[in-house]
Amino acid sequence: MSLSADTLSYEFDEEEIGFGKPQVAQTAHAQPLSGGLKFSLAMVAVGLLSLIVQTAGGLLAGSWLGLALSLGLLAVGAALAFWLQHRGSVAGIKHDGIYFSGLLARGGAAWIAGIGMTALYVLLYWFPQVLGQPVDGAGPTGLIRVVDPLARVMTGYPAEKWFLYGVLYTGAILVFGVRMMMKYRHDRYQQIRTASVAFFQLIFAWFLPNLLVRFRQPYMEFNGVWPLKQDYLWPEKVAGQFLGAGPFGLFLLGFAIAMVIATPILTYFFGKRWYCSWVCGCGGLAETLGDPFRQLSSKSTSAWKIERWLVHSVLIAVLAVTASLWIDYKMTGNLYGSWAGPLRQWYGFFIGAVFSGVVGVGFYPLLGSRVWCRFGCPQAAILGLVQRFFSRFRITTNGGQCMSCGNCSTYCEMGIDVRAYAEKGENIVRASCVGCGVCAAVCPRGVLKLENGATHADRYHGAERPISALFDALEHSPKLTMPRNE
Ligand code: SF4
Ligand code: SF4
Repeated sequence: MSLSADTLSYEFDEEEIGFGKPQVAQTAHAQPLSGGLKFSLAMVAVGLLSLIVQTAGGLLAGSWLGLALSLGLLAVGAALAFWLQHRGSVAGIKHDGIYFSGLLARGGAAWIAGIGMTALYVLLYWFPQVLGQPVDGAGPTGLIRVVDPLARVMTGYPAEKWFLYGVLYTGAILVFGVRMMMKYRHDRYQQIRTASVAFFQLIFAWFLPNLLVRFRQPYMEFNGVWPLKQDYLWPEKVAGQFLGAGPFGLFLLGFAIAMVIATPILTYFFGKRWYCSWVCGCGGLAETLGDPFRQLSSKSTSAWKIERWLVHSVLIAVLAVTASLWIDYKMTGNLYGSWAGPLRQWYGFFIGAVFSGVVGVGFYPLLGSRVWCRFGCPQAAILGLVQRFFSRFRITTNGGQCMSCGNCSTYCEMGIDVRAYAEKGENIVRASCVGCGVCAAVCPRGVLKLENGATHADRYHGAERPISALFDALEHSPKLTMPRNE
């Protein structure tokens, strides 16, 4: 590349003339499409076309062949495309040109994707008939009919909206899991972690719960925990379903209670990462489908304040609703009377549907991949308190090696300014850190290391007295006022 004499002048101001679009590195993105990649993209196109035809009730709708030629081709074609695309590139950090992409930097394509994903949630929750939800004993139609053969084999029932949702959700984690494994194939932690979330989603959150439906047992996702799955310990589920289902129902109830006890204990040893980034379905989707959007999380101190207020408010809300539902149940309805049902529905609507679904996933392309986990999840709030004050987990930083490039902060999906800690050589001990490890995976200098120490007491100043540290933090908790300069 030749150097212009102008650029050597003291008057030369690169910022003023603009940096322009950077050169694209010679990765697979920059090369012409290979035959294999064209073939896989053709599979995606045929799958999409077939899906549209079948949704309209056309050829092969509701058959196994139709399912294979629509969602099957889409999934296999997309997974193959991701594999071929990344296989042809050098292993290592790949974020070239990310802020010049309309889809990845809140451009027009991001808005279209966000509106499309949000619309899917709105249809699922409030207008399922548009998707072909069966009514009055009739079979499913439209998009839901496409997965009908699979539903009948798995559950013994015709497909309905939540079966379709489970197929799409699990399929997205598996397909984008291939992308994640190939993109971060220089990092063993990312590969094992991605395999783990794919496994837990496929077996614990999809296959086994559908078997429960088939054998007419209470529904339960085995990687879900109260209060994330708020109804698992609500009287309606406990008394109405678990206790009414004999010994197996008791086993399910025991499992639900054991998970509530085990999650903070495991968090003490391993940090909340063991759940949020290895097991949880919400985390699984964020770490796979949401990975392309992780850089969109706000790193401002205002966002950090809002995060702490909001996530702990949701935790208080679920504790209050759960306690009062049980009091109402014990008083045989004398506390709320006919209001107990609406109270459950209120929480399910605002927190379960609007916050975790519509905003939490639908807004991936606009707000980043962990909006729900960061601002809303009550499970994350509990595990965050354990992690921040009591756990052995910390991210250690080798400050002398940090060159302040900011990669770690940019790609932290929880909006943590990792670089600020790295520059000072301080441990990162933050309640919100989900231990995804991407900050370490994208650090060009190997500064960051996710570790479980031998004790919790050496992580931060005052860590040997965690209860005092907790009360101290509560006493000095931030007021919810925005600084003027933001
Ligand atoms: S600090 Fe690192 S490990 Fe923690 S959430 Fe952010 S990127 Fe993931
Ligand atoms: S810790 Fe690594 S990624 Fe973060 S600023 Fe320093 S060198 Fe860059």
